[in-house]
Amino acid sequence: MSGAETCTSRVRHHLSRIQQGQHLNAFLSVYGEEALKRAGYIDQKIKEGTHGPLAGLVVGLKDVFSYEGHPLQASSKILNGFQAQYNATAVQRLLDADAIVIGRQNCDEFGMGSSNENSAFGPVLHPINHDHVPGGSSGGSAVAVASDMCQVSLGSDTGGSVRQPAAFCGVTGLKPTYSRISRYGLVAYGSSLDCVGLLGSDAEDIARVLSIIAGPDEYDSTVSGRPVNDYLGEMRQNEPLKIAYAAEMVDAPVLQPEIKVAMMSAIDRLTGMGHSVTRIDFPLLDYILPTYYILATAEASSNLSRYDGVRYGYRTPHPASLDEMYKRTRSEGFGQEVKRRILLGTFVLTSDYFDAYYTKAQKVRTLIRKKTKEILDQFDFLLMPTAPTTAFKRGMHARDPLQTYLADLYSVQANVAGVPAISFPFGKDKKGLPIGLQALAGDFQEGKLLRLASLLTEDL
Ligand code: GLN
Repeated sequence: MSGAETCTSRVRHHLSRIQQGQHLNAFLSVYGEEALKRAGYIDQKIKEGTHGPLAGLVVGLKDVFSYEGHPLQASSKILNGFQAQYNATAVQRLLDADAIVIGRQNCDEFGMGSSNENSAFGPVLHPINHDHVPGGSSGGSAVAVASDMCQVSLGSDTGGSVRQPAAFCGVTGLKPTYSRISRYGLVAYGSSLDCVGLLGSDAEDIARVLSIIAGPDEYDSTVSGRPVNDYLGEMRQNEPLKIAYAAEMVDAPVLQPEIKVAMMSAIDRLTGMGHSVTRIDFPLLDYILPTYYILATAEASSNLSRYDGVRYGYRTPHPASLDEMYKRTRSEGFGQEVKRRILLGTFVLTSDYFDAYYTKAQKVRTLIRKKTKEILDQFDFLLMPTAPTTAFKRGMHARDPLQTYLADLYSVQANVAGVPAISFPFGKDKKGLPIGLQALAGDFQEGKLLRLASLLTEDL
């Protein structure tokens, strides 16, 4: 913290930004008084020299993280009135390091969407042009960082939900390696794909937070036991890098021409800096999106079966029978997109179609991971756009959900393969909307990704 700035003055600043940007609908709850009280306490600790490594860092939480005693709804009516019973591991570690949680952020219901139009609490608006979407599902989290309502947001990324809104809003978004951060206390969507992700305007802030929240956790046996890297140290290295990009990705007909131009100018800059860039083939591109949507919906249909009106949140009034209670609760409590996913996921898991869809998708996933790993064994990064377009207009995909699914064309590969990926801002289109570029790296190479992001984001 610089000069006369205190945690209290910083929290006040972000609270006033939240107030000014209320119409954007980025926050579902603001913990103003609580955050100020905590800031005072941390200011005191700083004076005494007893503060933690993230002292005074102001963080927002996507509405999918358990924060004890605070509302948790995954932006769904089905969790109406639900309060978290315990802290997610990522949240607990932030608190233990003296970070300050400022509020709960709007998102697509249960993380399902790419435009933040699927929230029971209404859409989030793009901060630069209100007719456009901020991306999703972590739309509120990206808008909050872009509008200086907090320094860092915790989001979740199952198929791009941190990186795509980061790209649309002009901030940096990191999806770490699957298994790097505990999912304990994160509302489940597709458990084999779900990752806790981070959004910030500064890659160093992301590095600092990641080094605190990553690492083994006794509450989640899927977390890697690998020691956490020194991300800040890795960001400062300067050996030459080997970058690949795929012909199929830059030549895809759906890619907005200005994003292709941005890709090419990033490549020029990298070669100008003495790094090597190679054009390669990746013929599997067309298979990634269908594979993702089969696996994600199958896992979602199973994960969301727990919302039955008995244990949590919303229950339909005056049901005539137990069966009717389940049916009506779920029909009334879930939004349209979530119901579409549950139906699709249940379909691919039915015994008649299991082998044709689910088993096949698992096999293709293995192939995609293998091919992706082969590239990342040979190169430091696979560079690509984050999304095929910049922020699109609100309501544009309302009648054709497949169009929205296409927004995930480039972002789902990292989740299907389980590798880390980062989206960073790289210029704007002619409407002034941010362009995001993305890089994938080998397992546990988050530090290298942060280095690349800061290399290409600086002095634009
Ligand atoms: N847009 C993708 C989906 O709707 C990804 C969402 C996410 O990463 N949570 O499934």
